[in-house]
Amino acid sequence: TIGMVAIDKNGDVAAGTSTNGAKFKIPGRIGDSPIPGSGAYADNTVGGAAATGDGDIMLRFLPSFLAVEEMRRGSSPTSAARVAVERIVAYYPDFMGAVVALSKVGKHGAACHGITSFPYVVHDTTQESYKVIEVKCS
Ligand code: ASP
Repeated sequence: TIGMVAIDKNGDVAAGTSTNGAKFKIPGRIGDSPIPGSGAYADNTVGGAAATGDGDIMLRFLPSFLAVEEMRRGSSPTSAARVAVERIVAYYPDFMGAVVALSKVGKHGAACHGITSFPYVVHDTTQESYKVIEVKCS
């Protein structure tokens, strides 16, 4: 899955995903990516989030929504992503996936589980810079 969260010049926040889905998926499988709140979620007053990983598990927890709600309650994007991932891990310890989060002021973070590390890219159009950030997973 490619997940993106963006803030435009007006401060509007958007989030979205594009995915192949899962390997060997059965015909008709939808997965988590197109489900609002699961694959991605955004709220102009808070920020946005996007998720990748075991979609059949993730869509039961709306991790992108949870990450945005955690930021609404004052969490940093990193902590918010961690809460969303840990919520899933509490029920599915073998789960594999990641959540990225971006606050409306441009702070970002990610959390992941079941793999060694998770890279994400930050593009700042005001400075024309790209940065690859690699987070260690739980
Ligand atoms: N979440 C996607 C799905 O389960 C797969 C992925 O993130 O690579 O459809």
